[in-house]
Amino acid sequence: MNSFQITKKDKKTRARLGVLTTPHGVVNTPGYIFVGTYGRFLHLDHEDLKRTKSQIFIANTFHLWEKALKSKLKEGFIHKSFGFDIPIMTDSGGFQVLSLAFGDKNKVGKFMTGETTDPIKRTKIRITQKGVHFNFKGKKMFLGPELSMKLQRIIGADIIFAFDHITSPLDDFAYNQKALELTNKWAHICLKEHEKQSRLRKRSGEPRQMLFGIVQGGIYPALRKKSAKYIGSLPFDGFGIGGAYTKKQIAKVLKLIIPHLPEEKPRHLLGVGKVADIFEAIENGIDMFDCVIPTREARHGRLYTRAGYMDIRRGAYAKDKKVIEKGCGCPTCSGGISRAEIRALIKNVDREQNARGQRWCLMHNMWFFNQLLEDIRNSLGTSSYQRLKTKMLKNFPTA
Ligand SMILES: [Zn+2]
Repeated sequence: MNSFQITKKDKKTRARLGVLTTPHGVVNTPGYIFVGTYGRFLHLDHEDLKRTKSQIFIANTFHLWEKALKSKLKEGFIHKSFGFDIPIMTDSGGFQVLSLAFGDKNKVGKFMTGETTDPIKRTKIRITQKGVHFNFKGKKMFLGPELSMKLQRIIGADIIFAFDHITSPLDDFAYNQKALELTNKWAHICLKEHEKQSRLRKRSGEPRQMLFGIVQGGIYPALRKKSAKYIGSLPFDGFGIGGAYTKKQIAKVLKLIIPHLPEEKPRHLLGVGKVADIFEAIENGIDMFDCVIPTREARHGRLYTRAGYMDIRRGAYAKDKKVIEKGCGCPTCSGGISRAEIRALIKNVDREQNARGQRWCLMHNMWFFNQLLEDIRNSLGTSSYQRLKTKMLKNFPTA
């Protein structure tokens, strides 16, 4: 029921076309994955989502944790939550738990955006061989590889991720090395627990979930290579490439990692998906990536067009009767909703009106990225790929 087939390989780069088949549908790769943190997209129902050309979504185990444990719904509630059958992934919760230690002051997430170079002091969490102890909303909590596998089984996504030890760009070599040892150890625990959970699913007639291992190693080439070789040798169904690098390092890191991962298995770049990053990732052999940016920006009226960004809140659009982008096939543009109308809605303080504006913006941005990926897939291996890339990079110069 689960499979990944490579249908074409680019001769000049590591790019490839593929088809990922899951029990809830098919993903043509390279494909874009939108982030529905809580198992939904605010202001969009399943009919809206179906009209965005989306192929797959990712939700967060950490944010669905409580719902998973309290759920009186049948196991596998994630597809009910999104409202229809579509391939879904969940992350392990590791990123959310481990990044609690990074603190707001450092502004260190997947990418370093803060000014500080102080080393990370993990005072808010305690990491043991079994997982991570942490305080959340005044409660003492614990998450580790075994529990993550259990939670992800209950949530019921088609593709789940191993629980790994993400590091910060501020962590030194020694710390990253230690973290990598834990990631490797936890990878084995995840594989073992996944087999157990798969037997439970089989008993209740549910299909097996694909488990992706995660390559870490921070900004250190030697560790990245080591991690790729080791994790790549384990019987995972696919591989995720974890964060902790600056944006400029994406290509460099991928060039180190990808040659060590098995060719026939799918590869997912976690948390990356700006326009320029997409081309970089695909050419370096990535099949899927997820990113919150297109949906987050849509909520503030920041729209994507082939000519570049459009901030729909600008006064210049107040009387503009044109659609966001001429020729765009999204429900918003093809429905004839004008820039002026969207601007008025998104600037409205009334919650209902504002939500309507967000809905139009979300559907446009999601369509934009899905269409861009479709165009990239169609152009791969032809000279039109380079033309498309050149045009898009000109209009979206920053990675
Ligand atoms: Zn549109």
